[in-house]
Amino acid sequence: MIGVLGGGQLGRMLGLAGLPLGQRFVFLDPSPDAPARDVGELIVAEYDDRKALDELASRVDVVTYEFENVPAATVEALAERVPVFPSAGALHATQDRLVEKGSLVDAGIPVAPFRGATTGIEVRNAITELGLPVILKTRRGGYDGKGQAVITGDADVEVGVAALRGADLIVEGRVDFDRELSVIAVRGEDGAFAAYPLVENHHAGGILRFSLAPAPTVEASLQAKAEGFARSFMEAHDYVGVMTLELFQVGDGLLVNEVAPRVHNSGHWTIEGAEVSQFENHLRACLGLPLGATDAVGSSVMANVLGALPDVASITAIAGAHLHLYGKEPRPLRKIGHVTVRRDEREWWKRLDGGLRSLATVLPALEHAS
Ligand code: AMP
Repeated sequence: MIGVLGGGQLGRMLGLAGLPLGQRFVFLDPSPDAPARDVGELIVAEYDDRKALDELASRVDVVTYEFENVPAATVEALAERVPVFPSAGALHATQDRLVEKGSLVDAGIPVAPFRGATTGIEVRNAITELGLPVILKTRRGGYDGKGQAVITGDADVEVGVAALRGADLIVEGRVDFDRELSVIAVRGEDGAFAAYPLVENHHAGGILRFSLAPAPTVEASLQAKAEGFARSFMEAHDYVGVMTLELFQVGDGLLVNEVAPRVHNSGHWTIEGAEVSQFENHLRACLGLPLGATDAVGSSVMANVLGALPDVASITAIAGAHLHLYGKEPRPLRKIGHVTVRRDEREWWKRLDGGLRSLATVLPALEHAS
């Protein structure tokens, strides 16, 4: 029995990957509507509810989590009773953006220039050192572009600080990147390591809209660099499970933007587009099983379904399309599903009349394709 903190779509897809391996799941989530409720048992409780944590620990062989904002004390308390992967130490290194950036630097991994700040004065001092433009981010809790403000001029500073309501902040130099990539890697307790091919990610409004996998035009040296960063960070933290590095490509170089200590939206394509998915490999690592092959099978486009339920018949009419709905109530810009279109030919989308955007009437996330 596997315990999972968080019952969102990532938990749901972990469950779907684990059932064929003969695994069963207990999820803990504050919401009775958590999407994972369909693939296992759900304990509805807050993450610091001692009684609920006791119940979870008494019923499972191993615990993992599907989002990084689980209280550290919860993971530590559980770890006294059952193995928790990734460890509390790995979570600590990635939960707070300022600590995370420091951990990356300590592991010799390049990042955008950054400073910690709370008050308007500290933000101004950081800007003097880093130069404009900068991005203000809350150290904790932000996701999908929430908890961020771009500062391009002096007048934005007070507005930016006020918008983030006096939270502890990190000020980052804005990177003029060529494109955004991510690498998803997995490490076993025995130190076995594997990484998926780099993925090219397209965001709008801070939210991932679609990914191309494997990313087009990747030199072997770029892939090796990304894998090297992932391996260094994982080894430094004795990491077990799947981890994602969000990257900025600048010329031949890579900077790490963020570490996600978990399976990731930019890895959803691996369900159909790789030998073994990120979800199964995460479970294999947590269970001490041999890791599965991470090779891509053909090429995939993964498009998120945001805000509104799609027309199922139109999607399933697309050759190679695989629809995943998460059982979530539609709300503007909420991630309620995704579609992976996988075909055997490499970068098949380049040969579509009108390119990827030609699929946008059915998959609106592709409106942002160039
Ligand atoms: P994050 O929440 O850190 O993943 O940021 C969301 C998105 O904001 C990223 O995917 C980038 O598109 C953009 N972004 C974040 N940090 C920076 C930065 N330092 N320079 C340029 N763009 C950034």
